[in-house]
Amino acid sequence: MHRIVIVGGGAGGLELATRLGGSLGKAGCAQVTLVDRWPTHVWKPLLHEVATGSLDTHAHQITYAAHAHWHHFSFVQGEMKGVERGARQVRIGAVVDAEDGGTEVLPARNIEYDTLVLALGSRTHFFGVPGAEENAITLDSLEQAERLRKRLLQACVRKQAMREGGKCEPVQLAIIGAGATGVELAAELRRMEATFRQFGVLSPDGHTSMRITLLEAGSRILPALTEKVSVSTHASLEGLGVSISVSDSVTRVGPQSVETKSGHVVPADITIWAAGIKAPEVLASLDGVSVNKINQIKVSSSLQSESDENIFALGDCASCSWTSERMVPPRAQAAHQQAIFLHKALIARIEGRPIGSFQYKDHGSLISLGSSTAVGNLAGIAPSRSIFVEGLIAKAMYAALYRKHLMAVSGLRCMLVALIASGLRRVGAPRVKLH
Ligand SMILES: Cc1cc2nc3c(=O)[nH]c(=O)nc-3n(C[C@H](O)[C@H](O)[C@H](O)COP(=O)(O)OP(=O)(O)OC[C@H]3O[C@@H](n4cnc5c(N)ncnc54)[C@H](O)[C@@H]3O)c2cc1C
Repeated sequence: MHRIVIVGGGAGGLELATRLGGSLGKAGCAQVTLVDRWPTHVWKPLLHEVATGSLDTHAHQITYAAHAHWHHFSFVQGEMKGVERGARQVRIGAVVDAEDGGTEVLPARNIEYDTLVLALGSRTHFFGVPGAEENAITLDSLEQAERLRKRLLQACVRKQAMREGGKCEPVQLAIIGAGATGVELAAELRRMEATFRQFGVLSPDGHTSMRITLLEAGSRILPALTEKVSVSTHASLEGLGVSISVSDSVTRVGPQSVETKSGHVVPADITIWAAGIKAPEVLASLDGVSVNKINQIKVSSSLQSESDENIFALGDCASCSWTSERMVPPRAQAAHQQAIFLHKALIARIEGRPIGSFQYKDHGSLISLGSSTAVGNLAGIAPSRSIFVEGLIAKAMYAALYRKHLMAVSGLRCMLVALIASGLRRVGAPRVKLH
């Protein structure tokens, strides 16, 4: 039987495994295996909500092993360490329990494939800025988002104790990078602060207890989005009391401050790095597989590696042309479209038919600005122009993106049950986690 191995169960990989399991796996035409370093999946665009405690992670995780069982594929936990291209094997590292002194749970293994799909996503790119890796927190994984949440909570509790002792100092937060992640996080932090005040974690006297500074090297926030979205978001963030600095790149991150090129020093109890991505280093170490400067696998229009026709890549870890000048952006909507394309393409490959070409369609971007508002542009509706949306309607559309992902991987019934369950769980609970 043809063996398809997908490495990375994120926005693109999990959807592809689910679709292939439901078609080829169920019909017994191929053996589909998903590999991920973690046992559960959380949709990455939710991580800023995890970091601010407004999302209950237990309610929004998909357990790979159970999901695989229901959708006719196999799941293997472990981190990909390399690929033996000649022998068509993926090298998987040992799984260790870090909380239990590094006890080995599973040994290192090799998995054989006929078709390999790399869907490893991306990590933070620190661009070599001194101190950034050591002193800044990132939002690459659920673990990191949880760590940030705990640090934010601890910092607020600490400052509140100082306040009670007569010292009135805010929690200073610096967010580096005003792309979608940085902007959404800044807005979400205000929701966290309001709930902390409501429940007495911070004193309810109306003073801004979190001083949030958003630092952007480009000339405006949200540089990848239209100017209108950028201007509107800038005004909304200022309305939320977020200080914004543009056209000034960060040159150093210290334990308690951030320095910029213009000589500005921003005090920071916590620094969050949300500027730029690169694909995992392991991809650059694959013998003879061509990658670009940020480790993304260079793929053709069929999403096949330029160096090996048995290797495909999708999502953030793939470098794929969109137009003659632009590459497909690292977005969940691109990973989703590529998963749909690859589902059909891999069936065609097994049946010996032509694979076809992937064509990315930009549907626009939406930026969440807290619990009840969002802003963005919708593309592909009116010919050659995008439509500006904001407010509650935009927020409803933003929320629909996650429901769409849930539907794609779990089906309509599970999505509706999850929606109702999450609504019920909110009854009688604070809007953000307090512990
Ligand atoms: C806070 C935040 C907000 C975002 N908001 C949006 C948004 O609103 N809209 C949008 O379109 N995009 C958004 N994005 C970007 C979006 O999340 C990514 O583009 C998308 O998740 C990419 O999908 P992927 O399948 O390529 O990778 P991912 O979803 O990142 O999945 C990669 C998977 O690979 C696994 N993995 C990694 N390395 C290994 C290894 N060596 N071995 C085994 N497994 C491995 C990981 O555990 C993970 O499960 C946001 C990102 C962040 C961080």
